[in-house]
Formats: sequence, structure tokens, C-alpha cells
Amino acid sequence: MRTATRLDALGTEDAYVVLDRAKQLEAQGHRVLHLEIGEPEMATPPHVVEAGIRALREGRTRYAVAPGVPELRDAIAQSLRARGVRAAAENVIVTPGAKPMLFSAALALIEPGDEVLCPDPGFPIYASVVRFAGGRPVYYPLDEARAFGPAVDAIAARVTPRTRVLVLNLPHNPTGGVASPEDLERLAALAERHDLWILSDEVYGQLRYDGRCDSIAALPGMSERTVIVDGFSKTYSMTGWRLGYGVMPAWLAEPMTTFVINNLSCTATFVQYAGLAALTGSQDCVHQMVAALRTRRDLVVRGLNAIDGVRCATPAGAFYTFPDVSGVLDRTGVTCEALADRLLGEAHTALLAGTAFGPEGAGHLRVSYAGGAHDLELALERIGRWVGRLAAVA
Ligand code: PLP
Repeated sequence: MRTATRLDALGTEDAYVVLDRAKQLEAQGHRVLHLEIGEPEMATPPHVVEAGIRALREGRTRYAVAPGVPELRDAIAQSLRARGVRAAAENVIVTPGAKPMLFSAALALIEPGDEVLCPDPGFPIYASVVRFAGGRPVYYPLDEARAFGPAVDAIAARVTPRTRVLVLNLPHNPTGGVASPEDLERLAALAERHDLWILSDEVYGQLRYDGRCDSIAALPGMSERTVIVDGFSKTYSMTGWRLGYGVMPAWLAEPMTTFVINNLSCTATFVQYAGLAALTGSQDCVHQMVAALRTRRDLVVRGLNAIDGVRCATPAGAFYTFPDVSGVLDRTGVTCEALADRLLGEAHTALLAGTAFGPEGAGHLRVSYAGGAHDLELALERIGRWVGRLAAVA
């Protein structure tokens, strides 16, 4: 027996592989510190939990209409105004998390042989779903010196007649990078000039420390060629609820609904009502989360920079840092994969090698600071001590 060859195109996410190893170490009695998984440790806001329970009690346990319950689609469309995006319910499709929308959009937009511009380093699922759809990922670099923003000139240089989609992820996983308003405008002009789709993954769009909240879809003419992918996992600490959405031209929402009918039917109805409460209730929970994450970001950036051989920029968004550890690697002769591997096995501190996000991630680690502040302090101590010991014996 064998599987269809198309499955061979799929990649994976190392965060889950490392999480699995970390759990095995925990099962053996070790206290593992989790800096690998992109999940806020904050609880889902109580009013959102209550709305979910209320929806269950009220019997909202049946199929919903495929593109999402109208009240939620409407609330999502309204919420996009904060990013300057004008949308209506007809532009919104609700899915069980942002990932199914990413997958659906890739299958809906990419023809076999199409080239898709993907960030490197970048969320590994982009290249995976591009390949699955028969496309070819073409990697573009980020500009580390400019807040890890997309390197616009390098992107322009990679456009060919086969280029069909530009994937943006702002703020960016794994670097926390953002783009300047000027760069967003240049990217929009590039997309217009070459008639490209933009797949704009904005799951960290509200987790910003520079007070901004924007979207390339807000620029003139761009909503017609952009699919925004977003969700509730990160902004409202709802990773396990599975709730996300896409925002797209209304004509595309129609075939996308057919696609949803074929593979999802709909998103859990009571979960959609919890999401409605998240969007229409007080946004204090989001502001509190951003404030708490900012404190953790500063703690981690300071702690990492205090380690000899580590250089860590201060990210403007999301909850990741992407420290350059080449000073440590040069002194000890290990690769970033080996460093991440040994930090887990020997210092029981789980984080990811930069190369888990593409070849350009070499020389870096990805550190998620979405966990508890106390654990982050402990983790920094462990990393500092362990790296010091490694350098001493090298
Ligand atoms: N996009 C990016 C860049 C992510 O980092 C993640 C999760 O880590 C997702 C999408 C998936 O989010 P969801 O939990 O809504 O499927």
C-alpha cells in the first residue's frame, strides 16, 4: 500500500516536532521550558469563554452556513476598519483557524508551475502548501538591518512572468519583523505592475509594539488582489478553539465557499459565537496582552544580548525574537540545529533552529516569548549558563 504522491510535497512545522520531544522529556520527569511554540500562555478572556458556553447551552451545536455565521462575518468585516481595510460580510469566509484559510487560498490561487514569492526565513507552511498546490516557492530575503522587513528590491528582482502570488506575513514569524508604510506602498505598486495576488498573513497584525495596525489591503486598489488570512488564535489566546478567516474579493468568496463545503462543511458554530464576543466585547484583553508581551520581549532581548556571542534585535511585533547566535556557533563549531537540539536535550529548554524557517535562518535561533515571564527568566539563565559551558570546553 502507498499514499498518493502529492503528499510527498508537504513539509511540516518543526515547532510541533520539538514540542513532541519536549513532552517526552517531561514524561521522564524533566522540567522543560517552552520557548518553541507560538502560543500565548494567557487564558482565553473569560467573557469569550462564557459566550462559548452560552452558545453551547443555547443549542448552537448544529451546522452553520458554510462561509460562517452572518453576525461573525459582519463583525470581522467591521473589525478590519482598524487596519484601514473596507470590507463587508460578503468578503469574509470563516474557517477553523487561519491555517485552513492559508491552505484553501493556496489551492484556489496557484496553478501548477506558478511561482510564489515566500519569505526566507518564513513560516514553513507557506512553501509546503505552495508545493502541494503544484506551485514553486521562490524565496525572498528580509532586511535584518531594517526591522526584518521584506527586502523590496530583492522581491522585485525575483518576479518573472510565472510569478502569481506574493506571500507577506506582517508582523513576521519568526522574526517579529514589520514593513514601513513606504515599503508597503512599493510592494503594492509591484503587485499592480505584475498583476500579482497578495496572500497577506496578518495573524500577528494586532500584536504590535509600535502602535501601528495596518494592512497592504488598505492601499488603493489592493483589496481586489489581496487575500487577508487572520484568526483568533494569537490575538485572543484562542489557539485550541480553532477559529480563523480569510478576507477576499466577493467574487472569490463564492468559489471559496464551494471549497469549504467540500472539505470543512463549516466552522464549529458555538466557537463562532465565542469569536463574535471576542470582536464585539471590550478590547482591553488585547491591550493587556500586548502590554504583557512587550515586558517579556524587553526581558528576552536584554537577556539574550547579555550572552556572549548572541546579538538580538528588538522586534516590533508578534511574540518572537530571532537572535543571531553566529558568535556562539563560530566559537563552538556547532550548527544552529545542533545548538537548538542540545539546548533541549541537555538544558531542557525548547526553542527552534533558525533553519526551521528556511536556509536564510542559518546562524539564528527562534525564541518565542509568549510563555510565562518566570519561565522566560529561567530559560535565559539556562541558555546563558549552558552556552558559557559549551564555549569553555570548545
Ligand atoms: N500563520 C502564521 C504566521 C503562524 O505563525 C501561525 C501559527 O503559528 C498560523 C498562521 C496559524 O494560525 P492558526 O492557529 O489560526 O491556524
